[in-house]
Amino acid sequence: MELKRVMVVMGTRPEAIKLCPLVRELRKRGKTEVSVLSTGQHRAMLDSAMEAFSVRADFDLDAMRTGQSSATLASRVLKHADEIFEAEKPEIVIVQGDTTSAYAAAASAFYRKIPVAHVEAGLRTYHMDAPFPEEYHRRAIALMSTYHFAPTVTAKKNLLREGIPERSVFITGNTVVDALRITLNEKKPAKPWHFPKNRRVILFTAHRKENLGANLAGMFCALRRIVRENTDVVAICPLHHNPEVRSAAKAILCGEKRIVMMEPPEIVSFHHLLPHCYLILTDSGGIQEEAVSLGIPTVVMRYSTERSEGMRAGSLRLCGSAEEGIVTVANRLLAKDCEEYASMKKPSAVFGDGRACARIADVLEKL
Ligand code: UDP
Repeated sequence: MELKRVMVVMGTRPEAIKLCPLVRELRKRGKTEVSVLSTGQHRAMLDSAMEAFSVRADFDLDAMRTGQSSATLASRVLKHADEIFEAEKPEIVIVQGDTTSAYAAAASAFYRKIPVAHVEAGLRTYHMDAPFPEEYHRRAIALMSTYHFAPTVTAKKNLLREGIPERSVFITGNTVVDALRITLNEKKPAKPWHFPKNRRVILFTAHRKENLGANLAGMFCALRRIVRENTDVVAICPLHHNPEVRSAAKAILCGEKRIVMMEPPEIVSFHHLLPHCYLILTDSGGIQEEAVSLGIPTVVMRYSTERSEGMRAGSLRLCGSAEEGIVTVANRLLAKDCEEYASMKKPSAVFGDGRACARIADVLEKL
């Protein structure tokens, strides 16, 4: 029997983290022929995440250039993915989430009438400018996709409201929970994390495009105030590779004794850091899901989230992107014997049970 040819496209760190477990699952089953196309959008962070799951690119567009606009990146991926699709003739193209890579690769496949399968379909804030340009990408990918793997019931409802036929939507859970299972249960970080017992660890990450500039500076100022005002706190601050993020962080946080700026830990190390964290402050999407799965109280430095399930589950608090709001919410949660904090500290499976990849593979094999 001839195997179905599936091509999985990934370009950024979160796509690799959320798709490599699926590549592993499909390969383990041996019922499909899986190839991986890397766009290289986040060169270093992508490669390190793929390596953690022992997945290699079969094709690499290496499409990222310094200072390149999103439109130029999209056009490069659109063109070169098309050449690969023409040569390789995949029967299904799998994309994940809402990046420029996912959007452009989906469009390439769509023009060739190759069915697109969208992993993590149906996330919406209904604000076109937050996250920007991801909210547009995810809606556009839905229009071009034949199969929609929705992580939650809410995501499925969003798709149905937009007129996507119900028979093409499958609720699977989020593959990030599968990734967490693999990294925490099967792998050890190269260097274990150690923190003094009398310190509470805050993890801080900020990188969203729409926050670059004044908002981002405000976020780093907020972190500096929170750490100065809570003397038993130490903050871990991995710096995203975007140069604007790095220069803002260094300008504001340099010299702060209890704030540790560092290169972004690779995924195994990062996941092993999470259970040490007392509180997370982030504008990331994936970290919200991981925090909810592990029950780590998290302050989301945004005005809206496409992960409202995490708010209902209890571990997430939205505080906006302005300095004052972030400091107020974080300080409230850091106060001794805070009942609100205690109520947020419970793991939840709203984003998945670690079997999302198996469900997606089941569907793909039956098509
Ligand atoms: N992550 C990581 N190292 C870091 C920061 C984040 O491995 O220093 C992982 C994190 O566990 C999550 C993913 O990267 O799975 C989130 O990526 P990011 O915040 O860049 O993108 P988003 O999820 O907002 O699209």
